[in-house]
Amino acid sequence: GNQIRLGIVGYGNIGRGVQAAVKKNSDVALSYVFTRRAPESVNVNDASIKVLSIDEIENYTNEIDVLILCGGSATDLPEQGPAYAKLFNTIDSFDTHARIPEYFESVDASAKPNNKTSIISVGWDPGLFSLNRLMGEVVVPDGATYTFWGKGLSQGHSDAIRRVQGVKAGVQYTIPIEEAVQRVRNAENPELSTREKHLRECWVVAEEGADLAEIETAIKTMPNYFADYDTTVNFISEEELKANHSTMPHGGFVIRSGQSSDNTNHVVEYSIKLDSNPEFTSSVIVAYARAAYRMNQEGLYGAKTVFDVAPGYLSPKSAAELRKELL
Ligand code: NDP
Repeated sequence: GNQIRLGIVGYGNIGRGVQAAVKKNSDVALSYVFTRRAPESVNVNDASIKVLSIDEIENYTNEIDVLILCGGSATDLPEQGPAYAKLFNTIDSFDTHARIPEYFESVDASAKPNNKTSIISVGWDPGLFSLNRLMGEVVVPDGATYTFWGKGLSQGHSDAIRRVQGVKAGVQYTIPIEEAVQRVRNAENPELSTREKHLRECWVVAEEGADLAEIETAIKTMPNYFADYDTTVNFISEEELKANHSTMPHGGFVIRSGQSSDNTNHVVEYSIKLDSNPEFTSSVIVAYARAAYRMNQEGLYGAKTVFDVAPGYLSPKSAAELRKELL
């Protein structure tokens, strides 16, 4: 059949990841990237893709079946989500967990009256991890759910250390504490504090003449980001940072542990290990873009989350093929 026509808004890590994921899915095509920057300053390395100013987007409603919003969660998506859900079916990876309910309402108010379908907060967390938390709860209702992240580079925490006075550059890795993971896997159902679940490891390039002890204290005592964790701070050269810390690996696991009757334990685990957080996130996004297109064709309008999407919509295979091959 015809390919599903995708467009991208915002060309950062996720935008590039979507471009890569499209190449692995023959039923989708990407022809347009919209950006807030001067289009000629954004190089997508592909002559078949037009880079256009975001100001032109309203002229392309008939050229695009699903628009992928690749902006940041802090300030881009709260604006772009409701604005473009009026005009297009959309997908985004909004990941500020505490604000998902209000974000959902604002996108829904745009999409529903305009007969558009918008799937929000798609990726791995929120996204595939959310689905696994739900499955754990419904299948083992008497139990506990544990989410561990890492080892992986946290963009938010890396940004936070770069804002510390005297810091020139730096990255932060979130690392699950092995002992806690083992206790969970052993069905001990432990109560774990924040500090007992994850470590934070920082690799920092200091400005010349900066007071290293001061930087270390400022990082370790930073509320919300580091104060509740055991944090290590390592000072390195700019060359080392570039050579050893310029990729974006990530991963983690969702574990549900509980009982179906006395002394009958079940431990259910979903685990991922990613060389590139943005490329994996974008691969999830492209599968959900397929779902958004089909659900819109069936008249399922408004904002949706991964909980509202039946799995079959995600696959390029027909329902009959799926019954035969994967059931
Ligand atoms: P980036 O910072 O790379 O990109 C965000 C926006 O910034 C882009 O859309 C782009 O908009 C602009 N931008 C990108 N590069 C430049 C540049 N060199 N100069 C100026 N502007 C630039 O963010 P990511 O793509 O890494 O992440 C986007 C969001 O995805 C994150 O905020 C996070 O919330 C979410 N995410 C969700 C996950 C999940 O599992 N649900 C996992 C990973 C990320 P424009 O082209 O218009 O300038």
